[in-house]
Amino acid sequence: MPATVSQAEFDRLWNQVEPIGRAASGGYRRFAWTQPDLALREWFAAACAERGLDLTVDRAGNQWAWWGNPDDAGPGVAIGSHLDSVPDGGAFDGPLGVVSSLLVVDMLRREGVSPARPLAVVNFTDEEGARFGVACGGSRLLTGALAAQRALALRDDDGASLAEALRAAGRDPEELAADPAAVGRVGCFVELHVEQGRGLVDLGRPVAVGTAIWGHGRWRFELPGEANHAGTTRLADRRDPTLAYATLVLRARDLAERHGVLATCGKVRIDPNGVNAIPSLVTGWLDARGDDDAAVQAMVADFAQAVAGFGGTLAEESWTDRTPFDTGLTNRLHAALDQAPYLPTGAGHDAGILANAGLPTAMLFVRNPSGVSHSPAEYAEPADCLAGVQALARVVAGLVG
Ligand SMILES: [Zn+2]
Repeated sequence: MPATVSQAEFDRLWNQVEPIGRAASGGYRRFAWTQPDLALREWFAAACAERGLDLTVDRAGNQWAWWGNPDDAGPGVAIGSHLDSVPDGGAFDGPLGVVSSLLVVDMLRREGVSPARPLAVVNFTDEEGARFGVACGGSRLLTGALAAQRALALRDDDGASLAEALRAAGRDPEELAADPAAVGRVGCFVELHVEQGRGLVDLGRPVAVGTAIWGHGRWRFELPGEANHAGTTRLADRRDPTLAYATLVLRARDLAERHGVLATCGKVRIDPNGVNAIPSLVTGWLDARGDDDAAVQAMVADFAQAVAGFGGTLAEESWTDRTPFDTGLTNRLHAALDQAPYLPTGAGHDAGILANAGLPTAMLFVRNPSGVSHSPAEYAEPADCLAGVQALARVVAGLVG
C-alpha cells in the first residue's frame, strides 16, 4: 500500500487527545467512567463520526466503530486499543493504538480502498484497572472472563461501586453483561501499542510483532494490627503491621529472584493513615508475572505462606495464563512488515483477553527509547509513531482484502 501518513495528520489527532486528563505531574489520570474518561469517549465518538464509521457500544461498555456491517458481511477485522490510564500514566499507553487506528482508516479511504471485510476501530473500557482493581475490565466483561455481578460490586478507593460509577456516567448497570454477539462480529484483532520495555532499542527497529503475553496476576494481602498512640505505646507493646509489610516487600523481591519471575508491591493502603497513630491495618497488593505460569504461581504460593506467617491473608484479584498470540496471524504480520522482529511482553493487554477467548489476535509494538512506561516519562519518537501507523496500515490492507 503506497499511502503514507504525515506528521501533521498524526499531530492533529494526537493534539486533540493529549490535554484530556493530564495532571499537574505531567502524567495522566484517565480512570474508567470519570470525567476525563467520558471526555475521551466523546472524543472517540466524534472522531469516528467524522470518518463515517458506525459507532456501537457493547454491553461491557467498549466502543466499536465499524466501517462496513459485520452483521451482514460476516466477522470483520478489529484494530484499536484503550484510552484510560494508570495513575500518572504516560501519553502513549493506549492512545497511540487508538490514534494510529483512526489514521489507518484515513489512509485506506484516501487510497480508495473499500474493504471486502468490515473493519472496526475499538476503544476498550477500563484496560488499566486503575479505579476498580481488575485490569482489562472491559474485554474481560465482554468475553465473560469477568462476571457482571462481580464487576458491579468492585469498589474504587472512595468506596464507589462500579454500579454507582456507571449510574453516575448515565449508564444502566443492569445492562452490564458478557456480549457474545459483539465478540462474534470480530474475526481477528490487531492491537498496536507502545513497547513497555527496551526490546526494540536493543534490536534497532521501530516496530515489532508480539508473540505472547506472560502469565500475570494481582493479589491483595491484609495485615491486621492494633491502632494505638504513637507517643505513649511502648515498642514492645505494639502490634504494628507496617513492620510485616516492609519485611514482605523484601520477601517478594527475594522470592521473585529465586523463581525467575517479576514481583512488585506498588500499592499500599494504611489505616487509619495518621502520622501519630500506629496502624490498625495494612492492605498491600502484589503484582507478579513471568514467562512460566508455574513459576509465578509457585512464587505467589511462597509469598502467601510468608503473609500467613504474619497473621495476614492473601486473596487473588486476577490471574491470566500466559497467552500466545495467533501463530498464523503473527507470522503474516512478520512477513508483511519486512521480517519485523518478534517480542514477548510482560504487560497485560486486551489483545490477550481476546486471544484467551479464542479470537485470532496479534500485537504490534512501537519502539520506546527509554523503555519507561506507566510514567509521565513514557515516550515514542514521532518517526517511530508514523512507522507504527504505516505498519498497521499495511497489515490491515492485507487483512481486509
Ligand atoms: Zn495499554
